[in-house]
Amino acid sequence: MNEPKYVYSFGGGTADGRTDMKNLLGGKGANLAEMANMGIPVPAGFTLTTEICTYFYDHDQSYPPTLEAEADAAMAKVEEIMGTKFGDPTDPLLISVRSGARSSMPGMMETVLNVGLCSATIPGLIAKTGNGRFVYDAYRRLIMMYSDVVMEKGGGFEPAEGQGIRQQLDHMLDEVKEANGYASDADISEEHLKDLCDRFKAKVKEVLGAEFPDDPKEQLWGGIGAVFSSWNGKRAISYRRIEGIPDDWGTAVNVQAMVFGNMGDSSATGVAFTRNPATGDDKFYGEWLVNAQGEDVVAGTRTPNPLNEATKNEQNDHLESLETSVPDVYKQLHDIRDNLEDHYRDMQDIEFTIQEGRLWMLQTRIGKRTGTAALNMAMDMLAEGMIDERTAVTRVKPEQLDELLHPIVDPAAEKTGELIAKGLPAGPGGAFGQIVFSADAAVEWVKAGKTVLLVREETNPEDVEGMRAAVGILTGRGGMTSHAALVARGWGKCCIVGAGTLDIDVVGKTIKAGDKVFKEGDVLTLNGTRGLVYSGELAMIDATENPRFVDFMKFADDIRVMNVRTNAETPEDAEIAIEFGAEGIGLFRTEHMFYGTGSEEPLFILRKMIMAGSVAERRETLDELFPYVKRDMKATLEIMGERPVTFRLLDPPLHEFVPQNEAERAELATALEIDAAELNRRADELHELNPMMGHRGVRLGVTFPEISEMQFRAILESAAELRAEGKKCFPEIMVPVTCAKAELDVQKALAEKVHGEVCAKYGVDEVEHLYGTMIEIPRAALTADEIAKTCQFFSFGTNDLTQMTFGFSRDDIGGFLPDYLDQGILPVDPFQVLDRDSVGVLVETGIEKGRATRPNLKVGICGEHGGEPNSVEFCHLVGMNYVSCSPYRVPIARLAAAHAQINFPRD
Ligand code: PEP
Ligand code: MG
Repeated sequence: MNEPKYVYSFGGGTADGRTDMKNLLGGKGANLAEMANMGIPVPAGFTLTTEICTYFYDHDQSYPPTLEAEADAAMAKVEEIMGTKFGDPTDPLLISVRSGARSSMPGMMETVLNVGLCSATIPGLIAKTGNGRFVYDAYRRLIMMYSDVVMEKGGGFEPAEGQGIRQQLDHMLDEVKEANGYASDADISEEHLKDLCDRFKAKVKEVLGAEFPDDPKEQLWGGIGAVFSSWNGKRAISYRRIEGIPDDWGTAVNVQAMVFGNMGDSSATGVAFTRNPATGDDKFYGEWLVNAQGEDVVAGTRTPNPLNEATKNEQNDHLESLETSVPDVYKQLHDIRDNLEDHYRDMQDIEFTIQEGRLWMLQTRIGKRTGTAALNMAMDMLAEGMIDERTAVTRVKPEQLDELLHPIVDPAAEKTGELIAKGLPAGPGGAFGQIVFSADAAVEWVKAGKTVLLVREETNPEDVEGMRAAVGILTGRGGMTSHAALVARGWGKCCIVGAGTLDIDVVGKTIKAGDKVFKEGDVLTLNGTRGLVYSGELAMIDATENPRFVDFMKFADDIRVMNVRTNAETPEDAEIAIEFGAEGIGLFRTEHMFYGTGSEEPLFILRKMIMAGSVAERRETLDELFPYVKRDMKATLEIMGERPVTFRLLDPPLHEFVPQNEAERAELATALEIDAAELNRRADELHELNPMMGHRGVRLGVTFPEISEMQFRAILESAAELRAEGKKCFPEIMVPVTCAKAELDVQKALAEKVHGEVCAKYGVDEVEHLYGTMIEIPRAALTADEIAKTCQFFSFGTNDLTQMTFGFSRDDIGGFLPDYLDQGILPVDPFQVLDRDSVGVLVETGIEKGRATRPNLKVGICGEHGGEPNSVEFCHLVGMNYVSCSPYRVPIARLAAAHAQINFPRD
């Protein structure tokens, strides 16, 4: 049997892989191969495939038997291209070992650099480079990374907070700097570095109980194993949960010749974006550091220099740009930027190193960007002719629209706000919250219902859960490409980094800004778009309508085949929804009239109706209620004009409306002319053990037909009057919580009777409307062929359908769902993302059966899933006519429906 190919080489102008092999080679590996093929200078190397990762976990953390020989052969190729040899005492090749999953997971997995340095190779490298300082600096970095990643994390050690080997070694490094007055790492002398390396090794032995390996090959395989293991590290798992990346994808490992940005002042390292990832501006944007390794730029420990003059900002204005410092290398890099954009036709996020004046590319990938940047880049690239409209539409993720419509700090409030610091605008929008100083605190406080800003000196990948939980992130150090900035931008989260004037003390939990001190729990406001930090809470406003957004959404609307409606029950909401592009109301929940402002009068009458002692009494109160119900229905129909409005009959259990406090009960008893005891008796009668499955929905109409009648009349009279006024309107009557055709027949007979009466009253032959039902009980989905005999449309109520399919109470899920998610029992909350394996099967069955009876059956969804992109895609796939969601999610659904049509075209 042929073993699969496990190792793919790249370098020297050719490669085994290509950019479209991401599943196998991971993003980094596939793109290194692509760059090598394009003739871009890439240090030679090879990629161990994601299939090895799968094998590794399936085989008790061991490798395929043929792997080592393949890797040896690939290493020989690297040696040939680079002209040096791994482990050679006179001219040693050093290598890096890095992770690379299909989809980028910044900082979530491990990296080991400078592998191959040992007592046998160090003298040779010193002789060759004539730079002992550089060699010992590289060696101390290797010891720090390797002992942390391979020996401690890979060895399963779980040190106490702050006691990890990495921190202990960092501490030793700081001591040397302090004792000798060194301002930065780059100032430490060769002797001190050499001495540190010896002491580091002794410390490693003392803390971890094992010698730091002195054999290059052992280091290599240690590094490879640690990277594969880091796929299942805690933070990688957390990140995958949040990003929805499947656990079984696995990571690839890239082994690549080292090039050094820390070989002196003619060496440097940097990261850049081919366009500005925060705003989308078409300007080459990035940061670099002289005499440094890549980790120095992303770690945020030194404020990096700007790439060019055009993109300098307040923080780095005084620092020299690459453009003026080394113009010829900058030009070469700029040409590569153009070449890459032209090739990939999208913004790229690149890493480069300059070794003694020579430029090397270490990575290119599609750059993460804010929603604003995504929109601007898509529209710019369209205008430049780089991409077509369909591609432009795919460039903005539906979730990113949330952020485009994100609140910003009210500029008027900013004028009078107390500015306490300026930093870099790393993540968009505005946010205010109580400050906390650790990721754990952020998570806990948010669980307790608070809104928090996470404040750190700099963030590292361990902070990811806290960053997620916080509404905003503020750091004292770091640049636009620091870890915090990268992650925040990816999530569209408000974020300010590098607010250097703040004195942040995470242990004492204080921020000092001049003579002001802010403690944990104090409130700050961030303007992430401008990098401004204010004391206290400032007012927020919605981002203003952006004409580019309107144009962009037009392209999306031209593509999609599903309609998008909204769930709204007030004229105000209906108006907002129309602005957001709603094409109808898919769910008008009648009972909402009895909640919130202006509900006192109708609610009181409703309560009388519920407590009525006889049918006659109930009819009387229903007559009183009628004008309120009709008023809201008519106003909504009028606003929606020719757009359809689906009115759902009263759904909630009646007991929900029984007043709980004594004063209200007494008032109600007086109005009903009964005593308190009688009222209490009637209230007790309404009590249910399981109201969610109790007397609600159509069941109310079955027992109290007069309640349905009143609503039918309100809907049909509203429509008749509007039409008499020459206005268009399209009401749809929807019966909730149905489980059988017969229920619908009974209600339909009533509706027809009322329809006849309304026609007679207004002197018309017909009040045009549709009659349909919600499908939210499994039995309804399974008997949809019968139900469709009576109904002209179905609307899937996937909130209840999920509740009844899973047997999870909608209202009580908070008690156990977090455990289900943490333990990986469920990948996501099924009330947010429609579960295609169960609820989805019911929906599909319902549609098939319904349309078998009535081919032109109109089908939609009005559960919360109607505004969630993955679920919208599902609705598209099963042939729904429309989705309906809350007003603010309408744009998201419109774009998700367009993406669904692009990815899965439907007639
Ligand atoms: C549903 O169950 O999905 C639905 C839309 O109805 P409600 O949320 O009002 O029960
Ligand atoms: Mg429901």
